[in-house]
Amino acid sequence: MQNYTYHCHTHALGKYDGRNTAQEMIEQAEKIGFTEIGISNHMCYHPNMIHSNPMNINDINEAIDTYQQIIEEVRQAAAFTKLKVFVGFEVDFFSSKLWRDDFETIMSNIKADYYIGASHVIQTADESIIINPYDVFHHGYPCPENFIAENYHNYWENIVEAIKSGYFSFIAHLDLHKIFRLGIEPEWNNPKRKVIEALTEYKQPFELNTSGWNKSNEQHPHDWMLKELAVRNVPVIISDDAHSIQMLGQHFARAEQLLSDINYTTRWKPNI
Ligand SMILES: [Zn+2]
Ligand SMILES: [Zn+2]
Repeated sequence: MQNYTYHCHTHALGKYDGRNTAQEMIEQAEKIGFTEIGISNHMCYHPNMIHSNPMNINDINEAIDTYQQIIEEVRQAAAFTKLKVFVGFEVDFFSSKLWRDDFETIMSNIKADYYIGASHVIQTADESIIINPYDVFHHGYPCPENFIAENYHNYWENIVEAIKSGYFSFIAHLDLHKIFRLGIEPEWNNPKRKVIEALTEYKQPFELNTSGWNKSNEQHPHDWMLKELAVRNVPVIISDDAHSIQMLGQHFARAEQLLSDINYTTRWKPNI
């Protein structure tokens, strides 16, 4: 069974959305027999990002400063363990040159080990309005009428661009928004197929995210997407997306069973 995760979160700087410190996560990883752990807090940066939650940053200097502090926090905790500990970020990707230039500046100014490509938001094509459905559905953050329906297709187009960008070790929770019942109708199968084609063409690893079993009764991505990716030999890693010590390694046996049932043999092992 896979005995590591490269996708988990801490309560970094007292404002990130994990519930435990890096030290507690590392100690728990050791306790459950992990050989290594990659800690990947959110990188929610964009010049047009609104402050709908404390992790959102729209100032590049604040971003560099914050992310470097998070890295140092993890490296300090890692000094007391025999476990191999890596620091990455789960990055909210945007396809504009504006964002890419800033992201490249951030990457060259911090010393992270890897980056996970993701998107949690829905944005207009010009990235002038960026809305996180989580903030809308869970915190009642105001959202223009019809905004999500009109712009949801940009999520899928953005994921294709994230795959093509070459920035990322793997791509997170492809069908994330099904936890809000978004994108579950058959009309969204075409955009999902485009993502499958891009993952195949770019040999881009992606994750089987087990947290879906807590939130929507299905892992990310859908069974049918996993089967399509299996026959195309796209490398997969199991991620717990743990936000607390109790969630480390959650549902890994079930994930292994699912991969074995569909004869998914191409696994991605980080080589950092
Ligand atoms: Zn995520
Ligand atoms: Zn995550």
